[in-house]
Amino acid sequence: EWTNINQIIEKVITNLKPEIAKKGLMITSNLRDIPLIKIDPKRIEQVLYNLIENAMKYTHQGEITINSYMKNEFVKIKITDTGIGIPKDELSKIFERFYRIEQSRARKTGGTGLGLYVVKQIVQAHEGEIKVDSVENKGSTFTIKLKI
Ligand code: ATP
Ligand code: MG
Repeated sequence: EWTNINQIIEKVITNLKPEIAKKGLMITSNLRDIPLIKIDPKRIEQVLYNLIENAMKYTHQGEITINSYMKNEFVKIKITDTGIGIPKDELSKIFERFYRIEQSRARKTGGTGLGLYVVKQIVQAHEGEIKVDSVENKGSTFTIKLKI
């Protein structure tokens, strides 16, 4: 379905904003012009929910930033947080089914460890890519790349 991806991003931000504000966090976005892309809008909405909910859940102060832009023939969406970050040796495992980082910090927050697994399945079903950059105690950036 030909979709305006920025509209979906804005919808998800609007819906999550009250919860984000309640945690004392800021959310900002910088959404550049992007042509309509052929995606399953409900599934991509789910991807954005999962990633922004994680950004929220694993951030105790600061902000969440969403960027979208075109690069060559790809659309890129970046979700950045100023949260607890992910240790280097865990980065390759977080997309596994039911995987949660086994530290007291992760146990304090609820969750099944399915969120990122589902995200990856959906992105791959769109022939897209997802990657993560993170620095412990500084924050994380998840980048989704989709074909136009
Ligand atoms: P849920 O199934 O409710 O999403 P979850 O959030 O624990 O549970 P995932 O979303 O799959 O599961 O994330 C897996 C693990 O990766 C998390 O438990 C957490 O340890 C780590 N993680 C994910 N996103 C972030 C983030 N933005 N910052 C820090 N750690 C993260
Ligand atoms: Mg999650």
